[in-house]
Amino acid sequence: MSPGTWRRGTGRSGTRHECSEARRTVSGTVEPGAARADVAAWLAEQWDPELPLAEWRALLADSGWGCPTWPTDRYGRGLEPPAAAVVTEEFARIGAVGPATGSGMNLAAPTILRHGSDELARRLLRGIVTGEDKWCQLFSEPGNGSDLAGLTTRAERDGDEWVVSGQKVWTTGARDAAFGMLLARTSFDVPKHRGITYFALPMRQAGVEVRPLRQMNNYSSFNEVFLTEARVRGANVVGEVHDGWAAALTTLAHERGLGTNRIGLIGARTSGRTAREAATEAEEVNATYVWYPQRAGRPDLVLEQATATGAGPVHRQAVADVIARGRTARWNVERSRLAAARGRPPGPEGSVAKLAGSDIARRSAAIHGALVGAAGMLSGADSPLGGIVAEILVSVPGGSIAGGTDEIQKNIVGERALGLPREPSVDADIPFSQVLTNRRPG
Ligand SMILES: Cc1cc2nc3c(=O)[nH]c(=O)nc-3n(C[C@H](O)[C@H](O)[C@H](O)COP(=O)(O)OP(=O)(O)OC[C@H]3O[C@@H](n4cnc5c(N)ncnc54)[C@H](O)[C@@H]3O)c2cc1C
Repeated sequence: MSPGTWRRGTGRSGTRHECSEARRTVSGTVEPGAARADVAAWLAEQWDPELPLAEWRALLADSGWGCPTWPTDRYGRGLEPPAAAVVTEEFARIGAVGPATGSGMNLAAPTILRHGSDELARRLLRGIVTGEDKWCQLFSEPGNGSDLAGLTTRAERDGDEWVVSGQKVWTTGARDAAFGMLLARTSFDVPKHRGITYFALPMRQAGVEVRPLRQMNNYSSFNEVFLTEARVRGANVVGEVHDGWAAALTTLAHERGLGTNRIGLIGARTSGRTAREAATEAEEVNATYVWYPQRAGRPDLVLEQATATGAGPVHRQAVADVIARGRTARWNVERSRLAAARGRPPGPEGSVAKLAGSDIARRSAAIHGALVGAAGMLSGADSPLGGIVAEILVSVPGGSIAGGTDEIQKNIVGERALGLPREPSVDADIPFSQVLTNRRPG
């Protein structure tokens, strides 16, 4: 069903509830109070905790209430962030389940909304809202992580399609993904940032081989992805051909801002079939991210551990320090949330939040290690915190790397927030074919 076809009063196979449209002010916005009344009326009519999850999510997509800030012709209601925030409150108030979360919702959707064609948005966003289509991020390559614009995976045009060959790495969640946010080089004759195209690549095809990697914390979230003449339709280009860098920056800004400025609908913890199915879905999705709390250093456990182990004055100083840093970081997150609520796109505050997160994680890990000593290296049920300390010690380094390393975040803060001179570059202005690299296929 396409957006805009929800008919009120005809049961769940009907069409869209149009009240908010009638309540738009002359400036074109819907006041939060009007949005609250509309969503409450819609929920009273439609929310049934015993609906199958897929059916409920289809209602969310087609009514636009699942992602109310999205445009009305793209599965949303065109609401401003303050009005959308009250929609979230109304869902939470009655315990209604929200749209799917994950890389599709957090990274692909904002990129498609901003850069994708109408046809692409209509075709791909619905599966993101319903959770039918999971996504992964095919950006990093063996030779190109921080220097992402130096990527060498190539895409060549073949009629209405593109043929893609190359290798990606560190691709989180690639095994379950239906689509990949793929960056590939489509021109070698222009400077490196100008010859990249952003594709929505169907992952389930012969030319895509996903090989899991084993991490030092024994989990296996990442994968290598080998692309051998993989095919993607021309209509799946996000933005313009050769101009994928603009769309990539949107994805990266949202990635840095993750956890700082998301206003989402959170799957409610209520009883009923819809909530049970949402919980199962969350468990499957979270299996990839089960070690992420340890990656953050578990500052939430530091005080409890210090008390349990009778920490001395030196350790107490460190505990107080990490708690103070955590609180300061939360204020920064609130600042970002406020900016998002006012409709501002994510900015360098995402880099500040990310840097603060890695700093707190490292300090927490050091405290956990110091409190329990050598036993912190042991895993198993009878080891400190049931093996959590050991897991913290080997998971924390990943946080300073994922989504752009600490050094890259410092460059962003220096250049975009503090106005310092740009980092010198020797290869940004010459054709990519002339850049000296040991990783150019063909
Ligand atoms: C948990 C996790 C999940 C990830 N998930 C994904 C994913 O789903 N999809 C994906 O595409 N990628 C993913 N990545 C990859 C991640 O984006 C890259 O690892 C990261 O961008 C760094 O790239 P690199 O590993 O090539 O390191 P390099 O870029 O080789 O960096 C090596 C070192 O050099 C430093 N350095 C590099 N350039 C500069 C500079 N200009 N100034 C100062 N110092 C510099 C770096 O800070 C780092 O310390 C993930 C990584 C992790 C750890």
